[in-house]
Amino acid sequence: MGKVYLTGAGPGDIELMTVKALRVTQEADVIIYDRLANPEILKEAKDGCEFVYVGKEDGRHIVPQDEINEIIYQNALKHESVVRLKGGDPFVFGRGGEEAAYLQERGIKFDIIPGITSAVSAPAYAGIPVTHRGVAVSFRVVTGHESPNKKESQIPWENYKTDDTIIFLMGLHNLPRIAKKLIEIGKDRECPCAVISKGTTKEQIVIVGTLEDIAEKAKDIPTPALIVVGKVVELREQLKWFQESV
Ligand code: SAH
Repeated sequence: MGKVYLTGAGPGDIELMTVKALRVTQEADVIIYDRLANPEILKEAKDGCEFVYVGKEDGRHIVPQDEINEIIYQNALKHESVVRLKGGDPFVFGRGGEEAAYLQERGIKFDIIPGITSAVSAPAYAGIPVTHRGVAVSFRVVTGHESPNKKESQIPWENYKTDDTIIFLMGLHNLPRIAKKLIEIGKDRECPCAVISKGTTKEQIVIVGTLEDIAEKAKDIPTPALIVVGKVVELREQLKWFQESV
């Protein structure tokens, strides 16, 4: 029986992969990878390494999660070194916990290799610090996949009135509803927002607006994209450093 490395591939820029992630990728017998993991990374694999694509698109799973779990498990029975490569960090909306539990229940050894999550690195490449003295003392990373209209929403929207930074992942399609909901709970319509598409890559696009107009401004932006809400967005004007595509 082999070992599984539940590995964060980083947000896009291949140089934002950790040294450990690179090493296990180079040593892997099989790499099971996502749409979000930069395919350039696969070039690092050794000759004869097998590749299995189990891509996901914005929460719509091309391969259902239980099938992915089983694919990882079956590969661990056949190979010594199995790398499960995931975009960003495996435990930040990456379902890495579910995959680890599935393996643990079947007696398969695993390591977790954290990755640089898009939640903080895409803002960093957009010149937006997620905390900043005197501006935001905390930040939240929230799923935007759940529609705020949903009755049984698990998101504690009422807590989001504060000035802290909110980062929504998987939220582009729900952006009009998210912005409306934040205004409804009492946030200022003029609250600065940014949408960052393909963050940390050469195709990075950043759209800046307010809760009122961000949904309209960002409606044609490609995925993956995340949403940053909060005053820290204003710092971009001064801190923008990365060459963007538009
Ligand atoms: N585990 C990943 C997140 C998986 S959820 C991580 O830690 O980054 C997928 C969501 O992440 C996407 O819908 C998008 O909101 C965000 N995302 C991932 N990569 C991104 C990128 N390069 N730029 C902007 N958003 C990204």
